[in-house]
Amino acid sequence: MLGSADEANPAMWKWLEAQYSLEALSSAWGAVVLGYAGFLVLERLVPAQRNPGIREFAADVRANLVYFLLNPVALFLGGWLSSPAAWYLGGPQFRINLAAFGPGPVGGFLLALVPIFVFDFFYYWFHRFQHEWSWLWEVHRLHHSEQVLNVTTNFRHHWLEEFFRAFFIVLPMNWLIRIGPATSAVAALLISQWSSFFHANIRVGLGPLTGLVTGPQYHRIHHSIESKHAGKNYAAFFPLWDWVFGTYWRPARGDWPETGLSDTNGIWGFREMVLSPFAGWWRTLRGASRLARTPRPKGTRAVVKQ
Ligand SMILES: [Zn+2]
Ligand SMILES: [Zn+2]
Repeated sequence: MLGSADEANPAMWKWLEAQYSLEALSSAWGAVVLGYAGFLVLERLVPAQRNPGIREFAADVRANLVYFLLNPVALFLGGWLSSPAAWYLGGPQFRINLAAFGPGPVGGFLLALVPIFVFDFFYYWFHRFQHEWSWLWEVHRLHHSEQVLNVTTNFRHHWLEEFFRAFFIVLPMNWLIRIGPATSAVAALLISQWSSFFHANIRVGLGPLTGLVTGPQYHRIHHSIESKHAGKNYAAFFPLWDWVFGTYWRPARGDWPETGLSDTNGIWGFREMVLSPFAGWWRTLRGASRLARTPRPKGTRAVVKQ
């Protein structure tokens, strides 16, 4: 069964192979380490907020350990399950000849922007659903619990979020377009590096590029604790999607708000990092069943507090 899907829709498998091949990982690691070093220096030189203390730093290390152990497995498992689904649903719809953009590093960079643009459309909606559906919010809140954004916050995603990405992003992308493995590898590297950059604790505005590409200030608005910023700036790379769907917030020059959540200090242990959504869902289910069992006086209606 999977063999036939593999033959008919090799793009997905090559994409995953490209992401996790030895060559891709080693070259990606080289770039990631270099990028990280630069972002770390900038975080010390021009911090947007006070740099994290030792307890927050330890929480980030724990989150990163969970990320490196569980998240690639969750994404791979999700990709393995969702790939045949894209094929059975008739994908890919478009086979774009991206090589027409031209060869070489500049061509490769431009090629990689096409899948990132498509990725960002699906990411936008997945991200927005995570904020608007309470069940998905239980998964995403680990990421937002970070009190001081920094270069490691990009890795602070719950492993279930990676699993769901396969169905909300990888599946529809593979249904829509066919992407070559080399382009996918470059795109994955750009996505990873840019995500680390816009989470970094760096007070660097992008000036006239602010409305064109995301940056540390644009994404900080999304993590802001201020109510006026709630539900804004979901796009990961192209603010255009926020603008099109009505969630765009252009940061003003001095707009560098505090970040985090009001109901947690962001210092989570291993168990909480791994199991938190299940605990949240269990609380919701128990609350709902208690509400259903509670006898109500005649003539009144149950009110569920959101
Ligand atoms: Zn979010
Ligand atoms: Zn974020």
